[in-house]
Amino acid sequence: RLLFARDITRTVQLEQMRKDFVANVSHELRTPLTVINGYVEMLADQAEADTPAARAFEQMTSQSRRMQNLINDLMTLSRLESLPSGRQDDLVAVNGLMGGLREEIAAAATGERTVEVHCDETLRLMGDSKEIQSAFSNLAVNAARYTRDGDTITLRWYADRDHAYFEVEDTGIGIEPQHLPRLTERFYRVDQSRATTTGGTGLGLAIVKHILIRHHGELRIRSNPGKGSRFTCIFPISATQRRDV
Ligand code: ADP
Repeated sequence: RLLFARDITRTVQLEQMRKDFVANVSHELRTPLTVINGYVEMLADQAEADTPAARAFEQMTSQSRRMQNLINDLMTLSRLESLPSGRQDDLVAVNGLMGGLREEIAAAATGERTVEVHCDETLRLMGDSKEIQSAFSNLAVNAARYTRDGDTITLRWYADRDHAYFEVEDTGIGIEPQHLPRLTERFYRVDQSRATTTGGTGLGLAIVKHILIRHHGELRIRSNPGKGSRFTCIFPISATQRRDV
C-alpha cells in the first residue's frame, strides 16, 4: 500500500491572498471613482452643447461609468467567492422576474428585439433571490448585446423529472465552438475589440457560474456561429417547489 500526502497549506494561503487582494483593490478604488464621477457629471452638465469640451466630458462620463461597473462586478465576484452561500430559502417566482428581464433587454439592446417568454407559472425556485435575479439578468442582457436589430430572444422556465431549467436563447451572432469552454473565465471575450462597444465588463458569465455553483446548479452553453446561442441554467429539482393553483 502507498499512502500519498501533500501539504497544500501554501496553495490555500496564496489563493486566499489573491481573493483578498482583489476584494481590497476594488473596495479602495470605489470611493475615489465615485468622487471623480460626480465631478465629471457636474462639469458635463455645465459644458456648452456640441463643443469639443462637451464631447470630452461625454467620453469621460461613459468611461468612468464603465470603470464603476467593472468595480461593482469585481466586488460581486469576490463576495460570491469568499462568503459562504447566503440565504438559500427564498422562494423565487421566476414568472414574476420575466417582466423585469424584458425591460432589461429593451434597455440594453440597440434596435428592436422580439422577446418570447415560455414560463411554467407554478414552478418556484428556492435560493437567494438577489443572486438568482442577478444571474438571469446577466444572461438576458448578454442576449440583448450579442443580437442585432430584428433578432428574437426566448426566455424559458420549465422542469422535467430531475431538473429545472432557466434558458435564454437568442438568434444572434453565436459563438465559435473553440471559445465555449473558456467563456466563464474572468475577462474572457470572444472579440476583445468589441469590449468597449458592448458595455460589458467581461465578468458577467463568471458571476453567473459562481451563483449557479452556490445553488448546486450548472451552466450549459450551446451555440451555432452566425445563428444564435442558448444559455441554460440547470437546477436540481430538489431546489424547486410547486405552487398550488
Ligand atoms: P461581457 O461583459 O464581455 O459580455 P460575459 O462574461 O458576460 O462578458 O461574456 C463573455 C463573452 O461571451 C462575451 O464577451 C461574448 O463574447 C460571449 N457571449 C456572451 N453571451 C453571448 C451571447 N448571447 N451570444 C454571443 N456571444 C456571447
